[in-house]
Amino acid sequence: MSDPLMATYRRLPVTFTHGAGAWLWDETGKRYLDALAGIAVCGLGHAHPAVREALCDQAGSLVHTSNLYQIAAQTELGARLTALAGMDRVFFGNSGAEANEAAIKLARLHGHHRGIEKPAILVMENSFHGRTLATLTATGNRKVQAGFEPLVQGFVRVPYDDLAAVETAGANRHDLVAILVEPIQGEGGIRIPSPDYLPRLREICDRHGWLLMLDEIQTGMGRTGALFAHQHSGIQPDVMTLAKGLANGVPIGACLARGAAAEVFGPGTHGSTFGGNPLACRAASAVLATIEDEGLTARAAERGAQLLAGFRQALAHQPGVADIRGRGLMIGIELDRPCADLVGQALAAGLLINVTADRVIRLLPPLILEPAQADLLVSELARLIRDFLATSPPQVPGS
Ligand SMILES: *Cc1c(COP(=O)(O)O)cnc(C)c1O
Repeated sequence: MSDPLMATYRRLPVTFTHGAGAWLWDETGKRYLDALAGIAVCGLGHAHPAVREALCDQAGSLVHTSNLYQIAAQTELGARLTALAGMDRVFFGNSGAEANEAAIKLARLHGHHRGIEKPAILVMENSFHGRTLATLTATGNRKVQAGFEPLVQGFVRVPYDDLAAVETAGANRHDLVAILVEPIQGEGGIRIPSPDYLPRLREICDRHGWLLMLDEIQTGMGRTGALFAHQHSGIQPDVMTLAKGLANGVPIGACLARGAAAEVFGPGTHGSTFGGNPLACRAASAVLATIEDEGLTARAAERGAQLLAGFRQALAHQPGVADIRGRGLMIGIELDRPCADLVGQALAAGLLINVTADRVIRLLPPLILEPAQADLLVSELARLIRDFLATSPPQVPGS
């Protein structure tokens, strides 16, 4: 039988039928501990009653109208989200890439309003911002871009966590209008910048009149032990994008803005057919309420600390483990060799993990992960890593 689906994914040979909390079950009834949560999407775990009730209730009255009309659920979500984020206004789309597209368009309009004819945005090496043409251009990964030239104009790239490079770009280029940056690089391998990085970027943006635009699509919604990762640094962005964890799996994206940046878009400058529809907004409001009610950001911080300490102990002095790092429930275990094969080995053992940037095991478990599940994750994964390192010798350069 030929595959009806375009071959954009190399899928693992498993089909899940249902889930509950941090557990998933496949067609044969085998159970898996989900340490990936649909890539930081299902923060509340699977089949959370608050999300189910919001979705069932809303589907029974109204799924979609149009942004041509008032949408109470969208206004309510917008009020809640902007208050929590300390931002002024929000635009809703349907994905992370769309949220970043909105931010990129907003930055360009902001530049044109300041009389800059060809505004440029500063972006980082090793970053990930999406798969649309503008967001793949912003992305600092050639594999994402290759074959899709001509790329979009108006992006300038510097190394991540390199303030001197940002200063140099600011001194040399007068077309820059914004910085787009992840507070922690997710796809790039759970790269955590130095503590003064975001505060200094804030200062540089203020000095030049640039917008500080944070891509919190992966880091937001409680994942790092704060509702938004930038809150660890005590700074406030001008623009912030969200998606993944915002509605626990119902497609949604959000571009929030503050101050003058919140007033840049006017009628007709941007839009979306589905964006902010009642169904997605009710799901997102249920997620925000549940994060608050169940204290899930604090739980993410605790569970993250438990996992980090657990892995550091279980893998102490283990040759082949280059680094163990993380913030809240965003954890990376870097090996000294490519380790994509570990994903299939973990799957066979009933554990869902991810490998990114070739050598980094990435864990993004749900915020509702229980202490005993975290212990299980540590012991099972540490065992798999030891077995993997024993049977997969490091690559000899040039071989
Ligand atoms: C996943 C991700 C995106 C893209 O989101 P999509 O919903 O897949 O378009 C953008 N930025 C970051 C940091 C992400 O992790």
